[in-house]
Amino acid sequence: MLRLAEKSCRILLIWFKISQMAYPGRRQSAAGISWLRKCGDLALDGLYPRHCRCCEGPLPSLSAREGQAAWLCGSCEQSLEPIIPPVCSVCGEPYDGAMTSDFRCWNCEGRKVAFDFAISAYKASGALRELIHGFKYGHDLSLRGVLAEILRPTLDEERLIGEDLTQWLLVPVPLYFVRQMGRGFNQSWEICQRLSQMTGIPAAEVLRRTRHTGTQASLHRRQRLENLRGIFAMKRRLPWRNHTHLKGRQILLVDDVLTTGATAHECARVLKRDAGVEKVVVITVARG
Ligand SMILES: [Zn+2]
Ligand SMILES: [Zn+2]
Repeated sequence: MLRLAEKSCRILLIWFKISQMAYPGRRQSAAGISWLRKCGDLALDGLYPRHCRCCEGPLPSLSAREGQAAWLCGSCEQSLEPIIPPVCSVCGEPYDGAMTSDFRCWNCEGRKVAFDFAISAYKASGALRELIHGFKYGHDLSLRGVLAEILRPTLDEERLIGEDLTQWLLVPVPLYFVRQMGRGFNQSWEICQRLSQMTGIPAAEVLRRTRHTGTQASLHRRQRLENLRGIFAMKRRLPWRNHTHLKGRQILLVDDVLTTGATAHECARVLKRDAGVEKVVVITVARG
């Protein structure tokens, strides 16, 4: 019985897609198509009930199928804390109150960083902390879609407006290969690939991590910088496939969480020094 219902639902969806192809932009059929789409979605929700990717609570039938609302229930979505201006012009640290000109936070004041600026989408709190934890340590690869969705608004930042981002390149912060083998994937590369599918911006793994550093969480900024020095390098290429295609390029360096910016600084330093990259903008899902 369930199989029959599933089959009829699939037929309905295929018919709907064909009708869309046959009559592109036909205004008089828009109401019919919208009705048909609702029927298909309702049938799908009945067969495969959707759940919030954070708390596992049921998502209401016919709730949004795009954006964050397609993945998260209302209360989890509300627990996300977006990073809104004013922010530090270098690391993106948010500040309360109003700022009329560019400013640097105490962490960036007098500090030379190799990246041009960093943008984080949300604070690492609430549902987002749970999602990142489930993704990285719970090895739940299926969360890459929602994290890429959460990262996407960083591309709307005003300093990127007017840029043709399809000419840029998404580059993930690499993991040491032993850690990647243990986890089964590099979380930054997974998010990168999904973001690339969503936006059409090309993505490539061009950096490698040369040694294991252990956890950085308990270290101060100076200790992190010392610990990370020389840890990244360009991926080895065959002589006839070098990194010349990166010369003068603009890069969006992707990571899940930005804390002090020491990792991003080291990656950007290597990209600019060894591959001649012109600009590195760091985008992260969360700000730690
Ligand atoms: Zn939820
Ligand atoms: Zn800062």
